[in-house]
This record gives sequence, C-alpha cells and structure tokens, in this order.
Amino acid sequence: MKLDTKAMRYLTAEDWKVLAAVEQGTKNHELVPTPLIEKLSRLRGGASGVHKSISALAKTGLIGRLKEAKYDGYRLTYGGLDYLALHTHASRKHVYSVGSRIGVGKESDIMIVADDTGAQRVLKIHRLGRISFRTVKSNRDYLRKNKTGSWMYLSRLAATKEFAFMTALRDEGFPVPEPIAHSRHTIVMSLIDALPLRQISAVPDPASLYADLIGLILRLARHGLIHGDFNEFNILVKESKPDEDSNEITLTPILIDFPQMVSMDHPNAEMYFDRDVACLKTFFQRRFHFVPTQPGPFYADAKKTVGRDGARRLDAALEASGFTKKMAKDLEAAIREQQQEKLAKGEGIDEGGELSGDEEEDEDDEEDDEEGQNDQQEEQVVLVIGEEVGKSSGDN
Ligand code: ADP
Ligand code: MG
Repeated sequence: MKLDTKAMRYLTAEDWKVLAAVEQGTKNHELVPTPLIEKLSRLRGGASGVHKSISALAKTGLIGRLKEAKYDGYRLTYGGLDYLALHTHASRKHVYSVGSRIGVGKESDIMIVADDTGAQRVLKIHRLGRISFRTVKSNRDYLRKNKTGSWMYLSRLAATKEFAFMTALRDEGFPVPEPIAHSRHTIVMSLIDALPLRQISAVPDPASLYADLIGLILRLARHGLIHGDFNEFNILVKESKPDEDSNEITLTPILIDFPQMVSMDHPNAEMYFDRDVACLKTFFQRRFHFVPTQPGPFYADAKKTVGRDGARRLDAALEASGFTKKMAKDLEAAIREQQQEKLAKGEGIDEGGELSGDEEEDEDDEEDDEEGQNDQQEEQVVLVIGEEVGKSSGDN
C-alpha cells in the first residue's frame, strides 16, 4: 500500500479527533457504530460536526464502510492508521516531511522522512496480517473476530517489538539504527547510509566480513537472542575509509529488522539459530564463492555462552516494555503464517536477484490509479502539525 500524505494538510482539528475516535472504537468493533464515533470524538459542535468530519474522512479513504453492514458505521483503513501515526510523529516533532519510499515488503513500507531541520530519517510502517486474512483459513481467535482490529493489533505488536529490541540492542552497543520514535504500527529510526548485502556484488575480503557477521550472531546469542531472519536484505553494509586518500575500505555490517527475533530459550531456538547461520553461509557461497573452513557455529555451544562475561540478557527486554506472553505468541503465529504463506506461494529470490511474486494489492488501494503521475510532486509533502490526537487512545 502506498502512503499518500496529500490529504494530510486539509484535515481539520475536528477531523483528527473523529479519526482518533474511529481508531479507538475499532479495538472492539469491526465496524464502529456512528453514534459511538459521535460519543468518542467529544466534539463541542455535536453530531453535525462529527458527520461533516466523517464524510471528509470517508472521501479521503481514511475510514470506510463495509459492504454488507447491518448498521451504520465505519472502520479505520490502513491509510487512516498511517495518518494517525504520522500525525503523532509530526506533533512530537519527529517527522516533518515525508519523502520517497525506499523499500516495500509485504510486511512493511519503508519511507524516507525528514525532521524540521531537514535531517533524514527512516519511517517503517508495519503491515502485518493483511495477507493472512485474505488467503489463510484460520481458526485463530484474533484473526476471526475483528478483521480490522487484527491487522492493527498485529502491526502494532510488530512495531512495538521492533522498537523495544532496537533500543535494547543500541544500548548494548550493537550496530543497529538509532531508534527515534514509535507510534502505533510505525517506528522512526536513523537512516543508514549503506547498501543491503544483497546489492553488493564483490567484497575485498569475504572471510573477514563473514567472520564479522558470525561474530554478530554469537554476540546476540550471548545476550540471549537470535535474529531469526538473518538474510542479505537485513544486513546493511557500510563502507568507510580510515582517511580520505586511503585505498583501504572498511566494511561494517549493520543489522536491521527485528520483529521476528526470538530468545535463545525459545522451544525452537536451535532451528532458528541454525537457519540464521545457514542463510549466511548459503549467501556467501553463492555470491562470493566463499566457504568457511570450519563447521558451525552450533547452537549448543552458543547456548553455553548466554549471559557470559556479564552480558545483559536482552530477550527479557520485550517483556520489560509491557509486551505480554500472549502478545508474543500472537505475533509469532502471525509471522510464522506469513512466512509459510510466502513459501507456499513459491515466492522467494529469483535468479535476477529481485524478490519474485506479485505485490498484493489491498482494498484501500482502489483509487491508486493516478499514483504514477503524482510521484514527482509528492517527493516532499509537508505534514500538518496539529494537536496531539494519539493520547485519547491511551498508548503508542
Ligand atoms: P521488512 O520487515 O519489510 O523486511 P526491513 O526493516 O528489513 O523491512 O527494511 C526493508 C528494506 O528497507 C531493507 O532491506 C533496507 O534496504 C531498507 N531499510 C530499512 N531500514 C533502513 C534504515 N534504517 N536505513 C536505510 N535503509 C533501511
Ligand atoms: Mg527485512
């Protein structure tokens, strides 16, 4: 889904309140009844003001009706949730303008944004759960009861988890982006000026880069963690020279993408650990024709090092941030389903080096026809900096 911030500056303070009310109501209602929206938005002008805002929001596609609804009501769309998150980032001065999209996955959109000094940052918008609801016949509670609530809930969990781990890893001195802000299903982080390993065709010394990366896996393990998706898209490689005239180039790997991280104590920890190691080995062999002389590293050895030399256990960081066991389970199930679905559809990496498989469109995309034409002028869209609307829903 494309984030289109065009309409942002035309929304009034009342519109934002009504949008926040629909968000609040969506937690318990698939379709938020109009009278409830009126109540939750607490507008001084009363019902007529609310109705005016409702029609403005519906026209912009931030809220929508359901086709076979039994009563009059609205649900929040992806766009609506994006706007609310951006509005919060804007009012907290973390984001001032939104630039171009640099990454699209099925689980996220990655945008370049800037703060009011023009400093560039990255906005990651989590989009978990939107595929599963279409194609997977699931009997899981969280998938069935409230579709809108489910993707909002899961995407929020992914962002919360990612932000908590990025913060904990950064505090321990791991090479990860700097976490700046978190709102709902989005996080703002520092922009890393580096290419994903995927886009690097040759390196002067593959053995040394490989050793650094295995070193990262083992260092994570000492802190009780497994990355869980240690692939060439989630490793950015920064190039630097010791000084201007030097021919020497130092390559520093930087790790991103943390929603799927697991504890070294996870029941399937060994599988995840081995998969991360295997993923790295396969890539180094295929891309750089590099085969390490030693086998391993092995989970059993890494397990013995958890907490060694006073390494702080970071697998506890998530619970410390208020993430319950149920949340962890729900997120894990959703991520696993999504991964299985990808495999089932035969999506993966094709010969050309790009991810194959169609990008699934969703219902909120119906009016995207003019996308191409607008691309240019939307490069730097200034957001409206209004009052904080996120507070009423009581969380991030
Ligand atoms: P996903 O969960 O969809 O895989 P990622 O966090 O891995 O999302 O980001 C997708 C891509 O966006 C990465 O492969 C990388 O190219 C780019 N990217 C993500 N975060 C940053 C960042 N902080 N700085 C620079 N590029 C980034
Ligand atoms: Mg990734």
